[in-house]
Amino acid sequence: MTTDLYIYKKEIDWSALHFGVNIPVSLQNIFYENINIKLQKGETKKIKLLVDGTEYPAILTNINFDETKYPTHKELSQIRWIPNSKIAKKLRAIFYSSYNYLSAEKEKLENKKKQLSVPAEMREYLAIYSTVFDDVFSVECITNNEIVEAKKAIRNYDELEIEQIIQAKDNSTLIEKERTTKIRKLDKTIGDNLKCLYEYKCQICGLFIGEAYDTTVIHSHHIEYFSVSLNNNADNIMVICPNHHGIIHATNPIFNREKKLFTYPNGYSEGLKLNLHL
Ligand SMILES: [Zn+2]
Ligand SMILES: [Zn+2]
Repeated sequence: MTTDLYIYKKEIDWSALHFGVNIPVSLQNIFYENINIKLQKGETKKIKLLVDGTEYPAILTNINFDETKYPTHKELSQIRWIPNSKIAKKLRAIFYSSYNYLSAEKEKLENKKKQLSVPAEMREYLAIYSTVFDDVFSVECITNNEIVEAKKAIRNYDELEIEQIIQAKDNSTLIEKERTTKIRKLDKTIGDNLKCLYEYKCQICGLFIGEAYDTTVIHSHHIEYFSVSLNNNADNIMVICPNHHGIIHATNPIFNREKKLFTYPNGYSEGLKLNLHL
């Protein structure tokens, strides 16, 4: 089994700090392809989560849900823990900023069950990766402090330069690299997953540049600039050929998300030939 396959990026909310995380339906395929565990509906398995070098027990569940209620769901998996567990306590300690915010907001609520979310500028994430062991998953915590630090570290770089640094195997050139390692790794693995999904073809022109040469030169591009947002959700990433990437950064076209259309400053417009995820 390959190590360090990206499985899931999750925004920290009340439930993650107490009960666990759902693996969203859209990621179930990648999830089950990347792990060697096969669970039937209703089955559970004990797993270990590796946080900061320490293993914490948790449960992987393939939920036996009511298919008549959710006809579009094939499978629904969760990684579960309980509020008093070591992993939940550890996560609340790491993500104290989200925990404090959510606790204070919850106090004010009459309906305690209401879903709360952390404001955009305070958001924190965890990223789950597979490891060499089938039942051990590595959890990387990306705190708001780290995001703020990373923003500072990359602020003097050009967007295209940053995207190239992220994709490069050797990242030793980025200043203060230790502060951005986790974020860059997550970004690269999400980008790599998308490149696989599109079979290394450009979403704009549909071409697989490099095919004849037995190589791939495809890029991942951030719709909302990464240097500004550090947003590496898959829905902010697009897979494009180096030519289109160069043109986009040279001209800064506007991307219309609804129509999936780039409009360039000279008035020229261009849609997406391939789109499976936006
Ligand atoms: Zn292209
Ligand atoms: Zn780009």
